[in-house]
Amino acid sequence: MNVIESTALGKRYRRTWALRDCTLDIPGGHIVALVGPNGAGKTTLLTMAVGLTRPTEGGVTVLGGVPAGSPDALEGIAFVAQDAPLYRNLPVADMLRVARNLNRCWDQRRADDRLDRLGIPPRQQVGDLSGGQKAQLALTIALARRPGLLVLDEPLAALDPVAREDFMASVVEAAREDDLSVVLSSHVLAELERVATYLIVLAGGQVQVAGSVKELLASHGAGLEEIALRHLRAGVPTTSGTDTAR
Ligand code: ATP
Repeated sequence: MNVIESTALGKRYRRTWALRDCTLDIPGGHIVALVGPNGAGKTTLLTMAVGLTRPTEGGVTVLGGVPAGSPDALEGIAFVAQDAPLYRNLPVADMLRVARNLNRCWDQRRADDRLDRLGIPPRQQVGDLSGGQKAQLALTIALARRPGLLVLDEPLAALDPVAREDFMASVVEAAREDDLSVVLSSHVLAELERVATYLIVLAGGQVQVAGSVKELLASHGAGLEEIALRHLRAGVPTTSGTDTAR
């Protein structure tokens, strides 16, 4: 099953195309790294997939053909935006209560257990948490919804190296335990190298390379970071990797 499938997908803001002619199949069961320079169109692609942005042209479906933005799609996807929207003035427990009231599917025990394991006290003000703890709280809320697809837009940007590693370990654990597909955008290539099983490089509003990490490593004879950098530098469309790139 493809968790995201886009066909000739494009988004234009006034005269500028943020993303153009993006045809992509992202297979399920992976931790997908979406990388690309600033302004490449990563957020645009992700927000169209989760139904927050309407395409100018083309289409996108999720979770095996469900139209993006439809009620079934919204139910099955958890999206953590770049600036993880949390209420700073609420205690953690109240933040969870708000999230529970906003979501039909909600696993309170899962949320409580995670926060307990992470040592995040329920009575602490959200605004007083560290950057790493805030990111973990946003992830906890996303996972309590029991999604089939977790989409994270630059979750590592504001985190220090230790918090980054802890956060990615949490993502890997959740993907394994919950049989969850994950798509995350990031500039932190070194961190992705250890966890990503599928790579998409986006540059200039177009897909430069997409494929399973295993196959890309075999065909390029280089590490993930170097493969991504090569395609970012070249900026030339290629069909490396066998799964998707078109
Ligand atoms: P970054 O890594 O910096 O977050 P990105 O790859 O996520 O970048 P996008 O945020 O998708 O890139 O932006 C792609 C292009 O679309 C950029 O040129 C950006 O300026 C433009 N863009 C994005 N959102 C809007 C908007 N709401 N209005 C106008 N232009 C926009």
